[in-house]
Amino acid sequence: MQYKLDQVVLSLRKEGFRITPQRIAIVDYVMKSEEHPSAEQIHKFVQKKYPMVSLSTVYKTLDLMRSNKLVNEIEVKGESRFDANTGEHINLICLNCGKIEDLDDASIKEIQSRVATRSRYRILRGNFDFYGYCSLCKSKV
Ligand SMILES: [Zn+2]
Ligand SMILES: [Zn+2]
Repeated sequence: MQYKLDQVVLSLRKEGFRITPQRIAIVDYVMKSEEHPSAEQIHKFVQKKYPMVSLSTVYKTLDLMRSNKLVNEIEVKGESRFDANTGEHINLICLNCGKIEDLDDASIKEIQSRVATRSRYRILRGNFDFYGYCSLCKSKV
């Protein structure tokens, strides 16, 4: 997914985001990752470059990103994971290994228009989280 780090950082700055290289590294990693990382995974990654970065800085940055709708939070196995793909897609969530994969499928639009017709809502967005076992895990569980 394409994004402009400068724009993201600027929009966060308006919300009182204190700009430090560590925080920019956190935002950059989260925006680029397709792994739907947890706060701990983000922390580990950013620590490689900035060993002094604290887990609470990661949490604070994620909170701000979430309130600015830059990330969605998904819970898997009791842990929060962060998805910077805020466009409509299906998250396939493996309950064994915890992997989360994105899937784009035309059926999302079909479901939305059916729901809009039946409910008379004007649908703005919808998230689809499908839980199960991935192709590697399904034979093991
Ligand atoms: Zn799996
Ligand atoms: Zn996703």
